[in-house]
Order: sequence, then C-alpha cells, then structure tokens
Amino acid sequence: MKRHSSCLVLNAGSSSLKFSVLRQVAGNELQAVLGGQISGIGTLASFEAKDARRRVLAEHRWDAEQSQQRELLLAFVLDWLGTALPDDRIVAAGHRVVHGGRRFSRPERITPELLTELQALVPLAPLHQPHNLAPMRILAASHPELPQVACFDTAFHAHQPWYARSYALPRELSDEGVCSYGFHGLSYEYVSQQLAAQHPELANARVVICHLGNGSSITAVHAGRSVDTSMGFTALDGVPMGTRCGSVDPGVLLYLMNEKGMGAAEIEDLLYRRSGLLGVSGLSNDMKVLQESDSPDARRAVELFCFRCAKEVAALAGSMGGLDALVFTAGIGENSPAIRAEICERLAWLGVAVDPEANQSRAHDISAAQARVSVFVLPTNEEMMIATHTLALLAEGEDEAELVRREEYTPCWTAPIPATC
Ligand code: AMP
Repeated sequence: MKRHSSCLVLNAGSSSLKFSVLRQVAGNELQAVLGGQISGIGTLASFEAKDARRRVLAEHRWDAEQSQQRELLLAFVLDWLGTALPDDRIVAAGHRVVHGGRRFSRPERITPELLTELQALVPLAPLHQPHNLAPMRILAASHPELPQVACFDTAFHAHQPWYARSYALPRELSDEGVCSYGFHGLSYEYVSQQLAAQHPELANARVVICHLGNGSSITAVHAGRSVDTSMGFTALDGVPMGTRCGSVDPGVLLYLMNEKGMGAAEIEDLLYRRSGLLGVSGLSNDMKVLQESDSPDARRAVELFCFRCAKEVAALAGSMGGLDALVFTAGIGENSPAIRAEICERLAWLGVAVDPEANQSRAHDISAAQARVSVFVLPTNEEMMIATHTLALLAEGEDEAELVRREEYTPCWTAPIPATC
C-alpha cells in the first residue's frame, strides 16, 4: 500500500538527467525526499542519488554502449525509485523546459500535440530543447498513464512590456519570434514567491534578483512580476557565466566571420563553451576555484564578473525607475559573500550597502543598518517550483487561485501594440 503521493521532477540536459522526488505532505505542502543525476550521458554514464540531507543513497555506472541509450538510463531511474521509495506513488512527472516560445506562458499538460509544438521551438534553443523533450517521449511510451507537465523557463518573463522584449530589428524578424524571452524563470518565480511570503511589505516593491550560478542572469521584478531581464533571445546574453560570454557587441561576431573565417559551429563553441569565467581566467569556469586562485587572470575574471553584474543591476533598476530590494540566489549568489560584497560595493551610489558580519554569516537579510535598499540572500528551488506547478495543474478546475492567476495574465504579444514580441 503506497502511503504518499509524490511528484517526479526531471531536468534533462545534453549529457545529464537530474531528477528529484517531492512528496505531498499535510496541508498540500511539498517535501523534497531525494534527488540525483545521471551524468556523462552519451560517453560514460554514471548515476548518483542523494537523500534530502545530501547523503549518498546509491551509485551506478554504465559502459559506453549503454551510456548512449536514454531509454535504458531513464528506466533505471524509475526502477530504482520504485525500490528506494516503496511507500511513494509517483502521481505525475514535471519537466523543466527551457523554451516555451511566444505561445506558452504557463505550465502545460504534455500531449502528443504539445510535443509537436515544443519540437517546433528547437531552433530557438537547439542546445537544450531537444534534450528537455527526450524524457517526455520516453515516459509517454513507457508509462502512458503517468500525467506529465512541461514547466517553462521563459514563462515568468512572458508578460514583460513589449519594449523590454523587443530588439530594434526589422518588424518581420520580431514577428517571427526574434525577441528577448529571458530564462531562469522558474528560479525567479520561486524566489519572488518566497520573498513575498517572508516580506509582505515588499508586495509592490521594485526588486532585482541576481541568479548567479554556472549560468547567470539578473531580473527586474516589480510587484512580483518580471519586467526586464538580462538574458534575451538565448541564454547567452547578459552577464558573463561559467563558460558563456554574456553580452558582446554583435559586431564581434561579424569580425569573427569575416576576418577570421569562423563558421557557425565554431562561433557557437567559442561563445557557449570557451568564454565567460573560463575564457577570461584561462583556468576554470568554477567561481570557487577562481576565488581560491592566486592567478591574476583568475582575479580579472572575478572582477569582470562583478563589474558586469553591478552594471546589469543598475540598468534593471533603471527599467523600474528605482530599487527597493536586491536578492542573491543560486550557487554563487547563495554561497559567496565576497562576490556579493564586491557587487554591492559598486552599487553604493544606488543606496545598496551590506553588513559585513551578516554577509559572512549566511544571514538572510544582509543589509547594512542605514541602507536604503534591502539586500537578501534567498536559496532558489526550481524543483519545488516545477513540482508545485505540476500538481497544481493536475488539480486545476478545483484550484480557484490558479484560474485567477491565468485570467489576470495577458501575454504581451496579444496586446494591440505594434512591434510586440
Ligand atoms: P549553480 O549553477 O547554481 O550550481 O552554481 C555553480 C557555481 O556556484 C559554481 O561557479 C561554483 O563555483 C559556485 N559556488 C558554489 N559554492 C561556492 C562558494 N562557496 N564560493 C564561491 N562560489 C561557489
């Protein structure tokens, strides 16, 4: 007899499959039970699962031939979950999907028709979208009775004003979908909800959230809604990242093509995999490694990262006409007091100041006593957001709040304003 209803969350990348199980507990709360990942898919795959206290529960390895077979690897995860959680009934699977395009601004139940529409968005995110879709198809074939839900990283940004979403390109390109979508939306949504729950006084505040991890972006959130963000058409734009360049003058790409004879694949590799912290430092894409290094180039990479983050925060504050609170989240944002301090120091003119002791001691509120802008550290939890959306969508019809949320929302491209995107 299965005593718990649980949600499986899947986040599939090119060579990895992250999974977590969140259990419904009293009062419709969700509790993370375990999580893990298969890494090295396509080369030499290995599996590791950890419990909620990050203790290793199981490990497994596959040979090169088996490592190519995504069906086999996903079946292993499902079989293992059945044994590891004998009291849990998986009632749904929620998937992280990088791109919802212009059409999808809320989570969607996965059907053959939806899969076709999501497949059509592959050109917008060729490095991520196909991998996000693969486990949906496998599960639909192996467990057709299991409800599946797609949760989009772009959705939280979908109601930005048209001018925040548009590039100054000819109208036909905007109409075709060449516009700024923004990413990390599930993280921003979770952090915004947590902020609202913990600080009701900030309900109408102008907040900038810095999601700083291996992939980094920064978003302006006004009264709980995304109004502008640093990433754009792809997850390359904005601040420098582990291996991604962030914003560069598009003229650089013309130079690389015309003067250096570089082709699309080579440029893609340069911008996505050889730039960012790795490219500048020549050492590592890992912020912790750079901060512990004596190398002057490592220091330059850190300094450039902080400079660009502060510049982006200032620009996003400008998008909202001011700044009431600044929030740090994700691997670097949550764990590096030095990076937070360096970014905040550059924003002193905006009224940002941190309390050095609170900043070092992993406090939630790290603002200095006299500071005009509140500064918080808030751990993100994208898996929780996906599970929440997945179960809410299944319960929809009974869930009035969800309906209200949908009716309130008007995607920007339905508004009768020219050049919307
Ligand atoms: P994420 O992609 O959110 O998992 O974040 C990964 C990034 O967070 C990597 O660059 C890590 O080096 C960085 N990170 C994690 N812990 C720390 C830490 N204690 N100090 C500095 N950076 C850290």
